[in-house]
Amino acid sequence: MSARLLIVEDEEALILLIRYNLEAEGYQVEAVERGDEAELRLAEETYDLVLLDWMLPGTSGIELCRRIRARRETASLPVIMLTARGEEAERVRGLATGADDYIVKPFSVPEFVARVKALLRRSRPEVAASVLIAGDLELDRDSHRVRRAGRDVHLGPLEFRLLEFLMQAPGRVHTREQLLNAVWGRDVYIDERTVDVHVGRLRKALNPGRLSDPIRTVRGAGYAFSETFGTG
Ligand code: CA
Repeated sequence: MSARLLIVEDEEALILLIRYNLEAEGYQVEAVERGDEAELRLAEETYDLVLLDWMLPGTSGIELCRRIRARRETASLPVIMLTARGEEAERVRGLATGADDYIVKPFSVPEFVARVKALLRRSRPEVAASVLIAGDLELDRDSHRVRRAGRDVHLGPLEFRLLEFLMQAPGRVHTREQLLNAVWGRDVYIDERTVDVHVGRLRKALNPGRLSDPIRTVRGAGYAFSETFGTG
């Protein structure tokens, strides 16, 4: 499972604890400490779930949640609010703002992880699923196998991750930079043209020439997994 999570929290010790435990589950985790920083990140990148502290420097958690819901691109993004004991009375307000779940600090780590998993399963079944299927294409995350029209497709690790990332959100256009961050990692410097090279390899492996192309090139923007792929 490779869901991408964003933590917005200003307590460093808590970030460490959450990050450690969520990474152990196989999630990709990024953390920012300020609300306004989170807003910038959310405008640039796509995430599968946001963990949002209530009291934050910059933009408050509740205001950020309201803005996440107001923006078309993030309106359905799953949000879990974190709050200190004593702020429980605010729970109703938090949920009214559009948070999907609400966890009171201090929390037990196993329960916390279970709540994150449960919300991902509910809201992003395509991210939680171990097998992604579109048309004649099948990607198995556990065995790292890809099959097309019943035949094995052999992909390198980067092509596999590219395909997995694209298949998670059919129709969504990803810029080269977003693909670099998601597949290669945010901390490595790689030329954006590398993405074109690997998309080219992926296409070649998926398509010996007669089958339809599941990947759409969006001129001037980037790449998307074809939304209509497999629908006829
Ligand atoms: Ca705080």
